[in-house]
Amino acid sequence: MKALEERIRRDGIVKEGNVLKVDSFINHQMDVDLFNEMGEEFKRLFADKPINKILTIEASGIGIACIVAQHFHVPVVFAKKAKSINLDGESYTTKVQSFTHKRVYDVIVSKKYLNEDDHILIIDDFLANGCAVNGLIDLIRSAGATVEGVGIAVEKGFQDGGAIIRGKGVQVESLAIVESMDASTGEIVFREQPHQS
Ligand code: 5GP
Repeated sequence: MKALEERIRRDGIVKEGNVLKVDSFINHQMDVDLFNEMGEEFKRLFADKPINKILTIEASGIGIACIVAQHFHVPVVFAKKAKSINLDGESYTTKVQSFTHKRVYDVIVSKKYLNEDDHILIIDDFLANGCAVNGLIDLIRSAGATVEGVGIAVEKGFQDGGAIIRGKGVQVESLAIVESMDASTGEIVFREQPHQS
């Protein structure tokens, strides 16, 4: 999505350690008009899928997921990062290794909000090593629900997550795929995606 690529070029900051900071329009201050354009594009890219729910993970996926959901007219469920898991049988749980905080979280979704009739679109801000998305797929499969696809704002194509998730046969659409980025010059190269706007 050209508008997102241009915004990343203009306002994104490449940090050491393969981190792209997009705090001024995604991760701290949020540009909801841009999120809205992203929602329109995801709706087009997943038009043939019978999506009835969007699943994301707290905290940074929630804002995007809510605006995207307005294009699908479906509810958003966010997986919660739990400090301690209560094994009362009322939640699906999995573990996720955090890329940004370098620690493992227990992640939970109540069984009330995920069930075998659900056809889920996963939405998140970034795809790096794929741990967050893999965890969400795990929760969906525990519920016997169907993964219809994964919609990502920014994929770092030089990390393994995209290949891992696509390797499972899941449709992954990332609106900007960073092929390479250089912290010393700030240069960012995007992958060509002819099927996107
Ligand atoms: P993964 O689980 O795919 O390794 O990492 C994805 C998660 O880590 C995303 O939910 C996102 O919050 C965070 N993340 C990974 N890489 C970056 C990055 O370069 N910039 C920012 N802002 N967040 C990232």
